[in-house]
Amino acid sequence: MRRGIRARHVLAHSAEGHIMLADAEVVVGDSRIVGVGPRGAHEVDEVIELGAAVLMPGLVDLDALTDIDHTILDSWQSRELGLGLQWSREYATHRRRAVFDAEERAFIREYGFVQLLLHGVTTAMPIASEIHSDWAETYDDAVAMAEAARRLGLRVYLGPAYRSGVNVVDDDGTRSIYWNEELGREGFADAARFLGWAAEQDTDLVHGTLLPCRIETLTEELLRRTASLAAETGVLVRLHALQGLLERAFVLDRFGVPPLAVLEQAGLLGPNLLIPHGIYVDSNPHVDADTDDDIATLAASGAAIVHCPLTSARHGSALDTFGRYRAAGVRISLGTDSFPPDLVRGIDIGVTLAKVLTHQLDSATYANYIDAATRGGADALRRPDLGRIEVGATADLLAFRLDDPRDGVIEDPIRTLCMNSTGRAADFSMVAGRITVRDGVIPGIDLAAMTQRAQELFDRMREAYAERDYLRRPVGELFPASFPAK
Ligand SMILES: [Zn+2]
Repeated sequence: MRRGIRARHVLAHSAEGHIMLADAEVVVGDSRIVGVGPRGAHEVDEVIELGAAVLMPGLVDLDALTDIDHTILDSWQSRELGLGLQWSREYATHRRRAVFDAEERAFIREYGFVQLLLHGVTTAMPIASEIHSDWAETYDDAVAMAEAARRLGLRVYLGPAYRSGVNVVDDDGTRSIYWNEELGREGFADAARFLGWAAEQDTDLVHGTLLPCRIETLTEELLRRTASLAAETGVLVRLHALQGLLERAFVLDRFGVPPLAVLEQAGLLGPNLLIPHGIYVDSNPHVDADTDDDIATLAASGAAIVHCPLTSARHGSALDTFGRYRAAGVRISLGTDSFPPDLVRGIDIGVTLAKVLTHQLDSATYANYIDAATRGGADALRRPDLGRIEVGATADLLAFRLDDPRDGVIEDPIRTLCMNSTGRAADFSMVAGRITVRDGVIPGIDLAAMTQRAQELFDRMREAYAERDYLRRPVGELFPASFPAK
């Protein structure tokens, strides 16, 4: 069957990159795009008319929210209160526990996937906070996620997260790492087993990937084993690095060299590697370094950074600068990282921060960011068939409505979307030819019931912060209301 999907604006692809077609259609046969051209130019069996919308490639989110939320809890406290949101060393040593059981964890991941689809994401590499787990993720967690993705029709690159250490707060309020190398080895074994399972799945919706946690929570042994398993199996590795100054201090202290050099020494730094967030390189003004070559090293390595502008900004960080990384040839993809998984808002924040940092209005454009959210992510996954609307590409499509009166008038469709709208304008999406969102709704999903259950689980998750605080302060103290209740 051939479906013709028509819209007022279609972001198609040519040899020179994305191009905008007016009043156009995309023809889909099975899982592929078989035609792109003016409205009505092709013979089709069914027409899907999207009207006043921009039809574009589905968004690729490589640090994709699979949580309920945590930024709303951990991005606004004083330093002193913020310490209370980490695990205390005493909790890590004696009282570690999972706040959620396996079934609840599976629900939370699925809730995250639903949110991603509703915000226009069609390919996701999941990230969940490990703060409420008893260590990291298991083989069974990853299988449950893969099955949920398959049911929903979302394409995922995933595996269980693993680590040999966790960031903790000592009794005197200093930060350090609590190590448990045995749990790290067990987690790695689960990750390796999951790669085997994923390789047997005959679907383009599930791809095994190695997802170790942050660089400062891995032993040298686990870094090296990750690199050699990736080389052996050909899978991608995503490793959080260059994310914060504390990470840099821990890594320098333990390895004697900064994070980028550790990645290189472990054999990880290459085109197989994705690095969220890639911010604290030697040229970053907040980093104390005599060198200025990290950005060039990143570019030469072929590794991609996963830039998460909204979450980074909410934690006080910005890529310094998007334009500089891009001009140097660093591969840039985007991620949401936390709630809301809204790449349209993320893109607007990214462009805005680039202006603030450079005092130039054209330092990063909306087009540059749309490239990163589509082709950039696809290329990081080594999937030239994704992130582009052209004949032969996989049919991953997304439409944002542009007829909400609150959008105001329409100028360029991309600028109008990014400056005047949000990801909530996502109205239609398709993954490998299967319709996943129609009229802003995921067929078969009871969103009201999911929202209610998510709230109950979130309330329990919020309560559990008190038991981990090194000062055991109650949640009312850790999360004071914006205004006192009367
Ligand atoms: Zn992240």
